[in-house]
Amino acid sequence: MAHGIGATSTSAPPLRIMMVTSEAVPFAKVGGLADVVPALAAKLARRGHDVRIVMPRYADAARNGAAPLSGALGVPMAHEEFWTEVLESRLENAGYPVTVYLVEHLELFGKSAIYARPGDGGSNEDLLRFAVLSRAAFQICRKLNWSPDIMHAHDWPTALVPVYLRTVETKPPFTETAGVFSIHNLGYQGVFELGQLHRLALDTGDRGREALEFYGRINSLKGGILCADMVTTVSPSYAEEIQQPEFGFGLDGVLRSRSNELYGILNGIDKELWDPSTDPLLPANFNADDLSGKLACKTALQQRFEFPANPKTPLVGMIARLVDQKGLAELLEPHYGCLPGVLAEPDVQMVVLGTGDPRHEQRLQELAQRYPNLAYESAFDEPLAHLIEAGSDFFLMPSRYEPCGLNQMYSLRYGSIPVATHTGGLRDTVIDADDPSGEGTGFLFASSTPTEIYHAVERAVRVYRTQPQRFAEMRLRGMRTEFGWDRAAQSYEQLYMRALQRRMRH
Ligand code: ADP
Repeated sequence: MAHGIGATSTSAPPLRIMMVTSEAVPFAKVGGLADVVPALAAKLARRGHDVRIVMPRYADAARNGAAPLSGALGVPMAHEEFWTEVLESRLENAGYPVTVYLVEHLELFGKSAIYARPGDGGSNEDLLRFAVLSRAAFQICRKLNWSPDIMHAHDWPTALVPVYLRTVETKPPFTETAGVFSIHNLGYQGVFELGQLHRLALDTGDRGREALEFYGRINSLKGGILCADMVTTVSPSYAEEIQQPEFGFGLDGVLRSRSNELYGILNGIDKELWDPSTDPLLPANFNADDLSGKLACKTALQQRFEFPANPKTPLVGMIARLVDQKGLAELLEPHYGCLPGVLAEPDVQMVVLGTGDPRHEQRLQELAQRYPNLAYESAFDEPLAHLIEAGSDFFLMPSRYEPCGLNQMYSLRYGSIPVATHTGGLRDTVIDADDPSGEGTGFLFASSTPTEIYHAVERAVRVYRTQPQRFAEMRLRGMRTEFGWDRAAQSYEQLYMRALQRRMRH
């Protein structure tokens, strides 16, 4: 059994926490991970902890006024030493100090994008890049003479942090450091050729090698799961689901073996960045007591995409990485996907924002040409994302699986009612319209199939047209739902304390 971790008011003593990540805004972002790490770090700092972040400095990342730590930092790997420079920067929006160490190395991080091959690794180059990053986190602590209570790693790129902590980094200042590993998406595991193991500097003892090996290959995620003192994922439902074969991506057995140390903690959202009453990216602001600004946003969105600016036409928004996980095949695959069926109803408008799989991008372009009620923008566009959340009536999220999902929380806050799969974090944050509690905030469907997606959109549009009062109440309930980081930060705090206790016992 996986468990959620209840937040109580008991507070932990001030801890020294080192987060290690491949992404964090404003320095580098591909997905939700980049939002989560700095938001959590800032909230923990506000609660009195000394929180620092280690991440790479990628090719296109601005130096942001970052100052170099004095002297180069050597990172010893198996056969060579990587000489890096470390820049010290700060999270600006936090209001509380979170120091960010950007590891600079031209060959490793300065030439390619965040991931040499997007997705789940597979490029041996990425194995080495992130192994050096993980090892650099320890070297930085040494250089600073800073002994962390917790090293908290995120997803496969930094899964080697708990592996090193358990195997080669056992001496001071790490003798009492506990390792926490968070899985933000089990679908990306960092799988590499076994022959690359020798590059990882795991030369003392076989424990790390054993933890990393999976069916004749390196599986980074498996190493992190087995070596961390505590393992978390980003929603209670997802913590349950990943222990089952259907959602376990082959690692369900490994996760079941850690079920006593596996917790689901729902992500929060940045309530300042995503606040419709102050959002500077919107043409008009609004809140649950005064929705007039929302209509202005809808009109602006309709005008931007040259739709008839009819306030009564239901407008469906979607913002996603265009990958199969997000239900794109079920929407778009020729002779299978349901989107043409949805768009055949001319008095429904839809705006899709996203980049990703070229096959999905191309199909969206084709459909947008064929259906005047579909607009597709192939871009990563933060301001447009805000306008879509604010200007749409519904937000479509037909994910096959969803560890937590941020967009449905943004959309609830912006009064755009989610139409989403009953899975993972979606089911932990959205209450179905027909829920016996009468507290519905969205339209959920059991699984991401074309038929179910189609019927859910139809159900949502029917309520919009025929039960405006019910629609309005649902929207207000969603807008008033609380998704801040306070509760999550308290839960992490408790988890860190448990990790430390476990570390002392082992
Ligand atoms: P995931 O992490 O799986 O991509 P989430 O819903 O957790 O999904 O987070 C996605 C984040 O990335 C959200 O902040 C979302 O608004 C943002 N995002 C995704 N695609 C785009 C895009 N094309 N333009 C702007 N923001 C985007």
